[in-house]
Amino acid sequence: MIYPIYVYGQPVLRKVAKDVDKDYPNFQQFIADMFETMEKSDGVGLAAPQIGESVRVFVIDGSAFAEDDETMKDFRKAFVNAKIIEKTGEDKIFNEGCLSLPSIREDVNRPSTVRIQYYDENFNFFDETYEGLKARIIQHEYDHIEGKLFIDLLSPLRKRILKRKLNQIAKGEVETSYKIKIVK
Ligand code: ZN
Repeated sequence: MIYPIYVYGQPVLRKVAKDVDKDYPNFQQFIADMFETMEKSDGVGLAAPQIGESVRVFVIDGSAFAEDDETMKDFRKAFVNAKIIEKTGEDKIFNEGCLSLPSIREDVNRPSTVRIQYYDENFNFFDETYEGLKARIIQHEYDHIEGKLFIDLLSPLRKRILKRKLNQIAKGEVETSYKIKIVK
């Protein structure tokens, strides 16, 4: 099943998401639907709040970046109940986009390395350190389950410049190649 994407202005994107437990109904199907929704919208990542579910789940498929970095080819996984333990390394700038912020792309500063503890979709535990593009995508998706968006990391001036565009997105006045959801 392909879900519509909740966009800027929807309260679910601003909530701190809750952990899921093993009894979560149809969890395997939920994860499969998240991957399918991400693929159909050409995203490299998708967090559950973006489909209206305030739970600590996100999926990533970095294969679109395989040309720049061949280790991205197989970087396809689900992160369940993730917790970032540490962010280290120099800040790096990268031009980010987000399915919940259609038509907006901005340079965003983030630390280059991240240590994260999480479970996979079968509730196996991992404690791993990522850097480069992987750390970038993980931090972006992790922000979603913390109720944050990349625009929060921009300067006040950039935010002011984007204000009109953001208001239009909140009203659904934006073109997308995927279905969006606005709950009034
Ligand atoms: Zn996003």
